[in-house]
Amino acid sequence: MTVRDALAEGYSSLEGHETQTPRLDASLLLAHSRGISREKLYMELGETCTAQVLESYRTALERRLSGEPVAWIIGIKEFWGMGFQVGPGVLCPRPDSEILVEAALKSMDEAEILGIQSNGVPRLHDCCCGPGTLGIALGVERPNWEVSASDISPQAEEYFRINNQNLAGGRLTYHQSDLMEGIPGPFDIIVSNPPYLTPAETKERTELGWREPVLALDGGGTDGLDVIRRLIPRIFNRLIPGGTLLLEADPLQMPYIRQILASNDFVEVNVHQDLAGHERAITAKRKN
Ligand code: GLN
Repeated sequence: MTVRDALAEGYSSLEGHETQTPRLDASLLLAHSRGISREKLYMELGETCTAQVLESYRTALERRLSGEPVAWIIGIKEFWGMGFQVGPGVLCPRPDSEILVEAALKSMDEAEILGIQSNGVPRLHDCCCGPGTLGIALGVERPNWEVSASDISPQAEEYFRINNQNLAGGRLTYHQSDLMEGIPGPFDIIVSNPPYLTPAETKERTELGWREPVLALDGGGTDGLDVIRRLIPRIFNRLIPGGTLLLEADPLQMPYIRQILASNDFVEVNVHQDLAGHERAITAKRKN
């Protein structure tokens, strides 16, 4: 069977299922099975696939059909120009979250200029770090900062440790923790991409066959904001006065999060748009 035929087979088996990108998925999975890039795959359309390649490709298609994200199957997801290892049990980095990295870098530079520092060395924490997405990107970008990360999930920790080693030379510290519990601080900046989908949205995705962990998606409460309501006061207690909080959430949640921040003595609240033009990140400062 040629590469072209194998792509057609993959496309027709994925079409109409959970994926909205059957062509892209089939090409990524076939390229992965052949051990080459997608670009190279398209230059080899007339070449024959070995039985071994076809077997691995068809197994990959089965996994995709069962709802696993492509990134879990190929084992890697690109974020902020870095390849993060991911797999079953962990949330895949999303391009939307790059806006948090951009906003955090600005806050880091501003904190350095203002000389707001907790302890001589500026410190940043990534709460609910998953495979290390935000913390590792920031730790690599600003090597003079002390960066730590935490997550409640033992699966996330496994991926975090690999990514921390591979991408950041192991320089971040890690705590297994539920929403900052047991992490003393103080920090100059705390970033977080917590679960924030509503239980109804999470259920809908699960029914569509999504396999990413509910723990990383469902924010609880009817509005998906329970986790954020618990998290904001804990972040307050671990920030230095004037320190910055950055959160990812759904654009429709932003007005409510503004209110929660205001009633917890956060000031200078700002929202930031993601690549699709949605208000995806919110920043605020702990009152002096
Ligand atoms: N932005 C993610 C999604 O829509 C949700 C991740 C999260 O809840 N933090 O899939």
